[in-house]
Amino acid sequence: MHVYDILGIGFGPANLALAIALEETLPEVNAHFLEAKQAPAWQDGMLLPGSNIQNHPVRDLVTLRNPRSRYSFINYLFEEERLIEHLNLPVEFPLRKEYAQYFAWVGRHFAHYADFGSRVVKIEPDQVQGDPCYVATTAAGRRFAGRALVAGTGRTPHVPEPFAAALGPQVFHLTDYLPRLAALSASPERIAVIGGSQSAVEIVLDLARRFPDAEIVNYLRAFGLRLKDTSPFSEEGYFPGFTKYYYGASRERKRSLDSYLRLTNYSSADADVLHELYLLIYEQRLDGRQRVRVQGNRQVIDASLAGSRISLVLAETNYGDIEHDEVDLVVVATGFRDLGPQPNQEPYPALLTGLRDLLTFDQDGYLAINEDYSLITASADAPLIFLNGLCESSHGIGDSGSFSLLSLRAATIAGGYLARSGYQPMPLREMEDSPA
Ligand SMILES: Cc1cc2nc3c(=O)[nH]c(=O)nc-3n(C[C@H](O)[C@H](O)[C@H](O)COP(=O)(O)OP(=O)(O)OC[C@H]3O[C@@H](n4cnc5c(N)ncnc54)[C@H](O)[C@@H]3O)c2cc1C
Repeated sequence: MHVYDILGIGFGPANLALAIALEETLPEVNAHFLEAKQAPAWQDGMLLPGSNIQNHPVRDLVTLRNPRSRYSFINYLFEEERLIEHLNLPVEFPLRKEYAQYFAWVGRHFAHYADFGSRVVKIEPDQVQGDPCYVATTAAGRRFAGRALVAGTGRTPHVPEPFAAALGPQVFHLTDYLPRLAALSASPERIAVIGGSQSAVEIVLDLARRFPDAEIVNYLRAFGLRLKDTSPFSEEGYFPGFTKYYYGASRERKRSLDSYLRLTNYSSADADVLHELYLLIYEQRLDGRQRVRVQGNRQVIDASLAGSRISLVLAETNYGDIEHDEVDLVVVATGFRDLGPQPNQEPYPALLTGLRDLLTFDQDGYLAINEDYSLITASADAPLIFLNGLCESSHGIGDSGSFSLLSLRAATIAGGYLARSGYQPMPLREMEDSPA
């Protein structure tokens, strides 16, 4: 079994950005990545027609770290001979499908760094040829070893308790949206979409287009769908300076910062889709043909299979009245889980269960993570483990899995690897100035 210097799990945007950073700044480091998907793909379950991205397109896989990199979104457009047409588009943000194509284009250039179709099911500490390392085993039984590990697996979907037991072809998380629709044998007559996120609103609109005769109800606990906080002052939460500021704050102050910045990314949606949905609902009322509804103040307390349908039990959040509904499909658009001890969080990425004895936690019960994203392990001799894209609870909203800071995070991880492993550090200027 070959031992890589760095073994990465997952080859989504976070670890692809790291692969590029390593190639551009530390080409002698022997890195390899294992990816469950068959080919590079970004959010392929949610490439909805007309949907756009939520980050400034220049905050791509590389530009904040190295604006001269070949792998920028702008250079992708240039090489694909679409730059001038793209710049002429009457939109603020590119289509999600175009950004996904950009991601796949870069991914293909770095395909030699990765084994696709390789879902890692187990990671264990081991020794190979006398080297302490981690060994990852894939679902097909292949084994790969790394002297350092970088987990970049994306966050775990959050599926609230009532839906967990009902998950399947008719009840699914937003990340499975398009594949589940493609597998339907008949058009649904009634659909429930759960949650008040950007994805929930996009899905309601998409369902209304696909199934114009179906009744679609969006249930959410809050009073109504909220507008995303796009104030440029709030958006400074996605600055690297904020990541440092947040990392150093106490848990209590972190909670306060979280509640202020929450609406920049969670339980809220952009004005364009909110306005489109509101107008659609109003127009259906004018036509005397109400098909789409948004039902706030509702919490689903039970979801179970009833014949060929899903039976929902709901509680009105302010009065406690119990209601019932029966639907053909339930799309759970309730986001993702962060790391932490709270009920909707997970203590550590499930994939690290085999390394449980090495993990340490701070006094508040959060996984202990250094500022450079390496884990503070129980043994000083343990090989390095980095988390890439999973650290919102320690590093703040800029680590919420978005594109915003991932190119800079890749540089931090590469720098952390250099500083902590046996490699001779390159002078920082050399890293910053190295050409693509
Ligand atoms: C619908 C949707 C739209 C979004 N739009 C935006 C946007 O416009 N702008 C923005 O900034 N952010 C957006 N986000 C946030 C999103 O998290 C980031 O864009 C980005 O996908 C994060 O990259 P990542 O590499 O951390 O995680 P992921 O994209 O989730 O990639 C993780 C990769 O790891 C692989 N993997 C997981 N487990 C294993 C395993 N056990 N073995 C092997 N491989 C594994 C997965 O297959 C996946 O390819 C969106 C999220 C969603 C759900």
